[in-house]
Amino acid sequence: MGTTVEIHLYASTRERAAALFEAAFQEIERVEQALSTYRPTSEMSRINANAARGPVVTDPEVLTLLDEALDYSLRTDGAFDITVGALVNAWGFFRGHGRYPTADELSRALARVGWRNVILDRAARTVQFRKPGIALDLGGIGKGFALDRAALILRRHGVTAALLGAGQSSYFAIGAPPDTDGWRVVVPDPDDPRRSLSTVWLRDRSLSTSGNAQKSFEFDGKRYSHIIDPRTGEPVTGMTQVTVIARTALESDALATALFVLGADRATAVLDHVDDVAALLVTTRGTVDRVVAIAWGGSVGSSLK
Ligand code: AMP
Ligand code: MG
Repeated sequence: MGTTVEIHLYASTRERAAALFEAAFQEIERVEQALSTYRPTSEMSRINANAARGPVVTDPEVLTLLDEALDYSLRTDGAFDITVGALVNAWGFFRGHGRYPTADELSRALARVGWRNVILDRAARTVQFRKPGIALDLGGIGKGFALDRAALILRRHGVTAALLGAGQSSYFAIGAPPDTDGWRVVVPDPDDPRRSLSTVWLRDRSLSTSGNAQKSFEFDGKRYSHIIDPRTGEPVTGMTQVTVIARTALESDALATALFVLGADRATAVLDHVDDVAALLVTTRGTVDRVVAIAWGGSVGSSLK
């Protein structure tokens, strides 16, 4: 998943902790092996290669994940869309640096995007694409899903206090460290990542941030995000960073990406339909209303101007 996963946990002995780490990391590895489109042998690569030719039978876990991903598309008017793969490739993110796609490349990629082109048949357990060239990309949701699965494994082993994190962009907290209210998680100040924008005490909740500075890139003196507006085919401008707290890491991950596309004005309408959710958005606009907090419990303070 192109990220570093860290796990902090409490256990009665060092040996027990080592066994728990092993079990959790094995689960992360299992999920990555299934979902990563960088791995040609993954289930997701197999689906991408074959689903335009006919229904591909897949396992219940992948089917459920795709189902949930499409549901977020429905709920966000297509702002969140795992079919952005063709656009991601056109913008050249896979090479780790950006270049402008030509108008022709862009229109060809846009024609291969759209979550309604993915047909799931729950009874038959199949996924099918309506047209060729669809490339599913779980980059906006996969880390959250992996953390949820690893957290489930830890819980099944009786863990009552753990923090799982993926690349400082997604966290899931099980319980809290002894005698505390939660796991301390810092939302960085995008203008100065050494400073904090807000500090959160996370307990049985997840926090995900989209728009990390290390994931954007500069080209021709302009800063581009790695998140694409599926409706225009262009990288999102106008948003700097979005953090979402939710019940599951899948949810916080998906919503952070979605709100990055939707912007502050439309964020509230989407979050109104989700239980136990909060968001902290940093827009790129100059001075007024740059930080927008929605149901955000913690304090917000930083160097942001
Ligand atoms: P995140 O850091 O969770 O916001 O995920 C960003 C990644 O999700 C990108 O690197 C792409 O792989 C993918 N992506 C980009 N735009 C979208 C979008 N509009 N909806 C869903 N996934 C996206
Ligand atoms: Mg995300």
